[in-house]
Amino acid sequence: MAHLLFKDVNKVYPNGYHAVHDFNMEIKDGEFICLVGDSGCGKSTTLRMIAGLEDITAGEFYIDGVLANQMSSRDRGIAMVFQSYALYPHLTVYENLGFGLTLEGIDADVIDEKVKQTAKILGLTEYLERFPRNLSGGQCQRVAVGRALIRKVNIFLMDEPLSNLDAKQRVTMRSEIKQIHRSVGATTIYVTHDQTEAMTMSDRIVVMKSGGYVQQIGTPYELYFHPRNLFVAGFIGEPPMNFIKGVVENGKIKVGETDVDLAPVVKNVKEIEGKEVVFAFRPEAVKLPEEKKRVAKSAEGASAAPKGYTLTSKVDLTELLGDTTNVYANIGDVNVILKVNPHNTPETGTEFKFFVPYEAAYVYDCETELAVESDLKRH
Ligand code: ADP
Repeated sequence: MAHLLFKDVNKVYPNGYHAVHDFNMEIKDGEFICLVGDSGCGKSTTLRMIAGLEDITAGEFYIDGVLANQMSSRDRGIAMVFQSYALYPHLTVYENLGFGLTLEGIDADVIDEKVKQTAKILGLTEYLERFPRNLSGGQCQRVAVGRALIRKVNIFLMDEPLSNLDAKQRVTMRSEIKQIHRSVGATTIYVTHDQTEAMTMSDRIVVMKSGGYVQQIGTPYELYFHPRNLFVAGFIGEPPMNFIKGVVENGKIKVGETDVDLAPVVKNVKEIEGKEVVFAFRPEAVKLPEEKKRVAKSAEGASAAPKGYTLTSKVDLTELLGDTTNVYANIGDVNVILKVNPHNTPETGTEFKFFVPYEAAYVYDCETELAVESDLKRH
């Protein structure tokens, strides 16, 4: 396990492209961290700086308290798994797993024991004599992980390791990698553009934006319930959060035909008077007006009714997914997506009223793109 510290780390490539800006973070021993963001936002560059494969242009990077900017790659105690498995095609699974150890001149008995132990952890025991061409994508990926695991390392780096797998294999490997992390305990930095992967695997997530700017660092829970700016609000969650713009007048904005009073969801509504803001809510947070009433009845008395906004939209299209229906609707010229109980799927072309509890409503300042402060308890 290793403790990592980044102080104002920057990367400028020789062609002058500034790929990572002021990366600041402390990573605790054994943490599982995902770097997430769209293609080109500097995730791999950051990972490669940790690995020592890319120079750090400015700033300081420490491993266990030791300044590591100039430390050679092999002294960093890292293992790396890439998107392409990079297995040796002419070697068996057994030989692929043991290859690194053989190079290090370790005794054959010790290698044998380690290969068998690693194969057992990864469920590869029955494939040890096979060649990569006779394995599925998921099995190849397990060998690639195993090859990294077999060396005793403190830091595990993974760059989009699941992107060559099909959806089902990705889900399986996701939980396998988590289990391996739990049993091995190495500090892990995992790069992905897939926010679901990041949400399901990480202790903490670093959301990055093109240009190499860190947007927010937090637990999956923090990022989902407290996205600090519009970028994170739109990036985390699937389908994405709904955004409706408006100018605040007398503490209210117009959302379609409804006057939305922002006072209940922001700390100080006076601060945003006259400003352009985004009113935001997640597709899965909406309720139907009838559902809201039912909640109130089943709880003790009317006082338990959730408070919030009733908005009116017009349905463009519905998609029945089984457990839910995605309703694609519009409020004036703004498109929104709402997730509803499939038994309540509305008809295309009809008016559709829905309810947004205060706790599920967010307000962002269009100028700063930051969340307007709120005292609401989000759940
Ligand atoms: P990500 O992993 O998030 O997709 P990268 O870290 O690979 O992004 O790249 C970040 C940015 O840096 C991209 O715009 C990419 O084109 C640029 N970049 C990557 N490698 C080099 C290089 N060797 N020279 C110049 N620019 C590079």
